[in-house]
Order: sequence, then C-alpha cells, then structure tokens
Amino acid sequence: MSERPQAPRGTFDVLPDQAALRLAVERCARGALEAAGYQRIETPVFEDTDVFRRTVGESTDIVQKEMYTFEDAGGRSLTLRPEVTAPIVRAYIEHGMHKLPQPVKLWYLGPCFRYERAQAGRYRQFWQLGAEALGSDDPAVDAESILLLATILDELGVRGTRLRIASLGAPASRARYRELLQGHLRAHEDRLAAEVRARIDLNPLRAFDSDHPGTREVMASAPLLLDHLDAADAEHFAQVRELLDAAELPYEIDPTLVRGLDYYTRTVFELTSDALGAQSGVGGGGRYDGLAEQLGGAHVPGMGWAAGIERILLAAEERPVPAPICDLYVAVTGNVPGAGGPAAVAAFALAAEARRAGVPTQIELAGRSLKGQLKQAARLGARYVAIVADEGIELKDMQSAQQESVDSAGAVVAHVLRGRHA
Ligand code: AMP
Repeated sequence: MSERPQAPRGTFDVLPDQAALRLAVERCARGALEAAGYQRIETPVFEDTDVFRRTVGESTDIVQKEMYTFEDAGGRSLTLRPEVTAPIVRAYIEHGMHKLPQPVKLWYLGPCFRYERAQAGRYRQFWQLGAEALGSDDPAVDAESILLLATILDELGVRGTRLRIASLGAPASRARYRELLQGHLRAHEDRLAAEVRARIDLNPLRAFDSDHPGTREVMASAPLLLDHLDAADAEHFAQVRELLDAAELPYEIDPTLVRGLDYYTRTVFELTSDALGAQSGVGGGGRYDGLAEQLGGAHVPGMGWAAGIERILLAAEERPVPAPICDLYVAVTGNVPGAGGPAAVAAFALAAEARRAGVPTQIELAGRSLKGQLKQAARLGARYVAIVADEGIELKDMQSAQQESVDSAGAVVAHVLRGRHA
C-alpha cells in the first residue's frame, strides 16, 4: 500500500468545529475594528521577496532562516508572507492611499508562513489578525490601536493577559544607543552566550531575549534604550502612556521589550497570556515610521499590530458555538431512495424555493428511509419537516409533532416563515 499524504509538519487542517470558533473570533474582531473605522484589506499570500528583505531586516530570524522563498517559472524571487504589515504598506504606496483622508485604517485576517520549529502554539502556517493605521504620528493613534487589541482579546475571553509597552525611539537615537550597548556587551564578552556574542555587531538588542544565566547577569546592568530617547520621542511615549492611563488600560513598561522585526520605531507593545506555555505572545506590534521609505515611498508614519488566531483560541475560555439553524428539512417518500422520480424532483424544487425565501433548509441527500430522514431532521434540530410524496406534501411541526397536508410548495414556505416569526 502506498503511503498516505498528511498535512505538512507545522500545518493543520481546520475542521468544522474549529472553523466555527475561528469565525466567532473573526466576527468579534471585525465588529470592534469596523466600529473604530478600520476597513478590511486583503493582499496576496506571496510577495516579491524584497518587500520583506528591505523591511523585516536582514539580521532577523525571519529573514535569515524562516522565510518560504522560491523562484517562480519566470525567475522572480517570491516569498510566502511571514507577516502582513510590509505588504500593506506596499499596497498603500502602490494605490496612492496618501490621497485619502489620513490616517488610513486597515484590518486584515489571513495566513502567514514561517519555517519555525513546530510546537504547541507555534506553527509554520498560522493566521494573523491585524490592524494598521497609516499616515499619522499622533500618539492617539498608538493608544487607540493598543486599546483595540486589548479590548478584542478581552471580549474573546482571553485569560490572564499582560500588556507590556516600550519605546524604541527614532533610528538616530537607536543607533547611538546601539553603540553604547555594543560597548557594554564587548566589555563583558567572556560571560555571554556564544550566540549572543556572535550577534553583537548584527543585532545586539536580542541579547535582552537570552535565557543564558551569564548573559542575563550582564544584561541586568546594561544601559536601557528608554533612558536614551531624544526629547521628541520621550514626549511621544509620555503622551501614549497618558492616553492609556486615561482609558484605564493597565500596562507595564518593559524597557527590554524586543520585537523580532527591525522596522519598529517609537512605541512597541506586546500582549501575552499566562494561559499559554512557552509561546505566550498573543499579539503585539508598534509604530513603524520608516517602513514606507524602506519600500521606496514617501515618509508615511504607521502604527499597527498582529495577533495569532491559534494563540487567541488557545488562551481563550472555551465557549459553546451555536449550532447552525435548520428551519426546514425536506424529506422524500414514495420513490426508491436516491433514484430520482417526481417526488424527489418536487422536493428539490421546494428546497430551492424555501432557500430563495431565506429559510435555512436542508434536503435529504443520502437516500435514507422516511424513518431515517425524520431521525436526521431531529439531529439537525429542524423546526419543520416537509414530507414530499407523489400524492402531495405533508408538513410536520417537530415541536408539536402535528402533521398536516399542505397543497403547494409556496404554502409550505409561507407556513414555515409564519412559524419562524411567531
Ligand atoms: P509577530 O509578527 O512575530 O509579532 O507575531 C504576532 C503574533 O502572531 C504573535 O503574537 C503570535 O500570536 C502570532 N504568531 C507569530 N508566529 C507564530 C507562529 N509560528 N505560530 C503561531 N502563531 C504565531
């Protein structure tokens, strides 16, 4: 026997139960985001590789080892998107969205791809829900964006959330700080983990992420970026905090907050849940005022976040999902099941008419006996069953168990509609 194919490692099938839960997340997020003026955008699942190389950063894990990059038959280098912010900024520039009233507020939901070590809460294909506000550097944009994600997670019942915020400042003050930090790391090089040592030049900030005991000791006395912001960035951060305080959203300031993408400037934040294990990040984001320029556009400040649908579901309380409604089940009798015939055709026409009238309707599709059909209708929670025979139609009310003859398909539909509104 030949081997049976399975879903690739780090990917999963979304079966109907899970699909219903995911739809509930989508509905909640969409409600909150659209009420705040965010509009949906969809970008392609793959982009020119350059879109990510130029923005996410050459030295990041994502670009160095996690991208699904391939050459198409035309010899172009394409990449399955590892994140969606850079594609959205690409779309903003491409479609001249700077001509619209600013900020342009967009939300998205779709799959992302990263070649990561697969484990609970970490997959190679996962879905991100995200929101981006482009074209304003007002601190109110930052606060509104953070508050929206916190509210959505709260409404979805995500347990034990913790919000950490920081500011990375502008590129110039970050560059000055980077040198300072590199000096500190070099002065204590012998106590650092090998991989931290190897990254002193490329990405010294990641040293704050290390679990290595020696490195942690060295980092305890490291200079902090928050203490080296220039006056405008410090003021911007103070205003964001003031607005979050005004909205009564609790947060912690974490001067060591490091994000895995290079394009962030000023505000960064992360929401974690203690209901998750090692992969505790549910969502996060920040400001990216230089991203549009990295993609060849004009200066367009931006702020946004992304949250993982699978992590949201892992961290949320289980909530029952309502079963789909079935108001009418159309059963057939009098024919050989599955062999067609006038009653089967009349039943099909009745179901089509009922659906046109907006009645949630299901039809017998498996050639069951009449008894089997009534059982199936009960399983589906059908309110009415229409039993179509060569001689005519009987309508059974499944609540009262009363059955009566009905003289036409139109009369069945009218009766069911009356019953629904009763
Ligand atoms: P990032 O773009 O890395 O800031 O990720 C934003 C959010 O996406 C995280 O907080 C997670 O919820 C989710 N996420 C990122 N990578 C993965 C992954 N490999 N598997 C599942 N969820 C992920």
